Amino acid sequence: MKLPGFRYNSAFLVTFCGLFCARGVATLTVRIGIGHDTHRLQPGGPLRLGGIDVPFDRQALGHSDADVLLHALTDALLGAAALGDIGELFPDTDPANRGRDSAEMLAIAYGRVQAAGYRVVNIDSIVFAQQPKLSPYKEAIRRRIADLLQISPDQVGMKAKTGEHVGPVGRLEALMAECVVLVETC
Ligand code: MG
Repeated sequence: MKLPGFRYNSAFLVTFCGLFCARGVATLTVRIGIGHDTHRLQPGGPLRLGGIDVPFDRQALGHSDADVLLHALTDALLGAAALGDIGELFPDTDPANRGRDSAEMLAIAYGRVQAAGYRVVNIDSIVFAQQPKLSPYKEAIRRRIADLLQISPDQVGMKAKTGEHVGPVGRLEALMAECVVLVETC
């Protein structure tokens, strides 16, 4: 049976299917992961965020370097591959994780994701911070994350939102971050 208004032949069908089959059906698999994190703020600076130091008179409080964005990203990556969460991989009961660089934890987690057969397609993220104003630092953070994951900055989205002066973010009591990651089999 021919579809009306559509000309095709077997060579076309083989070529069309070959576009999908040549790399194997499994390589077309994509998965999504989501991450969220919150850290309290305390006096002192700078603020470690997205793998860079942002000038600010407060810093995030945590067992590691308390990088709320990299923690949300790490959880999103691990979630995309169903590999648990950052707390399982780097428990805060382990003294080795005290003050640990979150960039190092991200790299280790992504290594596990890659070993499971996945690579990043793209990342999108939101940082919730009443202060400091993050727009001057967004490009540096996107480049830093891209460097850490060996991807292009155009694969990394970052948005910043205030807390509208309400809630723990708006009262400068805390920072929050959310992240979504799409991965594909490689
Ligand atoms: Mg955290």
